Amino acid sequence: MQEIDGNIVCTSLPYSEFKRHEGEVATVKGFIHNIREMSDFAFILLRTARELIQCVYSPEFSDFRLSDKVVEQAAAKVTGKIVKSETRDGSERFELQIHNIEIISSPAAIPPVVISKKQVNCDLAVNLDNRPVTLRNPKERAVFKLQEGIQRGFREYLQGEGFTEIHTPKINFAGAEGGTNVFKLDYFGKTVFLAQSPQLYKQALVPVYERVFEIAPVFRAEHHDTCRHLNEYISMDFEMGFIDSFTDIMNTETGVLKYIMNLLKTEYAAEVEMLKADIPEITSIPCIRFKDAKEMCVKKLKNITDMKDFEPEEEAFLGKWAKQQFNSDFLFVTHYLSKKRPFYTMDDPEDPEVTLSFDLLFRGIEITSGGQRIHDYNMQVEKMKRLGMNPEEFETYLMLHKYGAPPHGGLGLGLERLTMHLLGFKNIRNAAMFPRDINRVTP
Ligand code: ATP
Ligand code: MG
Repeated sequence: MQEIDGNIVCTSLPYSEFKRHEGEVATVKGFIHNIREMSDFAFILLRTARELIQCVYSPEFSDFRLSDKVVEQAAAKVTGKIVKSETRDGSERFELQIHNIEIISSPAAIPPVVISKKQVNCDLAVNLDNRPVTLRNPKERAVFKLQEGIQRGFREYLQGEGFTEIHTPKINFAGAEGGTNVFKLDYFGKTVFLAQSPQLYKQALVPVYERVFEIAPVFRAEHHDTCRHLNEYISMDFEMGFIDSFTDIMNTETGVLKYIMNLLKTEYAAEVEMLKADIPEITSIPCIRFKDAKEMCVKKLKNITDMKDFEPEEEAFLGKWAKQQFNSDFLFVTHYLSKKRPFYTMDDPEDPEVTLSFDLLFRGIEITSGGQRIHDYNMQVEKMKRLGMNPEEFETYLMLHKYGAPPHGGLGLGLERLTMHLLGFKNIRNAAMFPRDINRVTP
C-alpha cells in the first residue's frame, strides 16, 4: 500500500477490504467480465480471482471515454474511488467509481459460449468442450473452489490427528483391486497398470508412519457411460494403524466430514451461497448392517436380483430411510459379504461370511468404501490362496505382513461424488474440472 496525493492506493485490493477503505482510491487488477452500458454511464464487472467487483464508469467521475479496447475478457487495471452503492435489498455493497482503466491484455476473439451471465446456459457437452473458457464463469469456478475446501478440510483435519501426507506411485506392476476396470499401459515393452487406488502402498506405510493419507487421482476403466463414474477421479484416502475396531475408521471419517462441512460454511460461505449448496448438519452418523439393509430393500422394493450388493435404487431407498428415521443425510452400511470385498479385507471372526467393512452412503449414493485389513501374514496368504491368487506375485505387498503390521484399516472417499451430492448435480461430470469418461479425453 502506498500513499499518492493523500489517497491510499492499493494494488489489487480484495473486495473484503473495500469497507475499511471507503472513500479512498484503489487499484484492482482483473478481467472485464461484463459491461452494461446505460445512456450516460456504464457498469463494468471486474472478475478477480474469487470475486466480481462492480465498477461504475461515468463522465462525472472521470474524463475517460469507454474505448473499443474495453471489451469483455480483456485483462485490465482499474483505478477508482471506493464508494457505498445503492442496493435494492438495502444490503451494504461497495463499488469503484472509475477514474481510469488500463488495458493490460486484449482477447483475440469473443468467447464461444456466453460466460458473463449468472450461469453458463448450454449443453453439458458444449460446456465441457470449452472448459478453459466456461470455468471463468463465477458459478462454474465456484464448484471447484468449494472442492478445494473439501480437500483442505480433509487434509487439515487429518494432519491435526497425526496423519502424514503421502504420495504413492500411479504406474504399477499389479492392479490393487484387479478386475476388469484396470487400464493397461506399455512401459518400455512391459505391461503395467494405472493405479485404481493407493491401497497396497498406503497399507505398506502404516508400520512406517502409523497414520497416512493421500489426495490423488486414481484410474478406473469403467466400460459404461454412467452419471456417477469417471475414468479418472480424485480419491481421498487414509489408512490408520493400532485400531481397536473398524468403527475407529468410521469415527475418523465422521470427524473429517464434520470438519469439512464446518470449513465450507465458514471459509467458503460465498461459494456455498452462490451455488445454493445444501451443507448437511452432522451430529452422529447412523449405521445398519448390510444384511438388515438388504432385508429392508427386499421387503420394500420389487425385482431385486443381486443379493450380494446394492443396486442404485436400493442405495437411494436407504438414503431416504436414513433421512426419515434419523434425519441424517449419511448412513454407514457395515459387514458387507466377504465374497464382494477385496482380498485384503478382514473377515469378521464372529461370522467369516461377512467382513469388518463399511460403505458410507450420502443422500442415497455410495461415496466411501472402507474397512479393517488383514494384518497377519498367514491369514493373508491363506485368504489369497482361497481366492485362487498367487501370493508370490504379491511378494512386496506381503512384506507389510511378513515383517510385522499392527491392526489397521482405512478408506477411500471419492471427491467428485461428494461434491456432486453436496451441490445436487445429476451428473458427476459437473463436479470434475476436466472429466475423463468413456467418450471424452479432451480438453
Ligand atoms: P461403485 O460401486 O459406485 O462403482 P466402487 O465400490 O467400485 O464404486 P470403490 O472401489 O469402493 O468404488 O471406491 C471408493 C470410492 O471412490 C467410491 O465410494 C466412490 O466415492 C469413488 N469412486 C469409485 N469409482 C469411481 C468412479 N469411477 N468415478 C468416480 N468416483 C468413483
Ligand atoms: Mg465401494
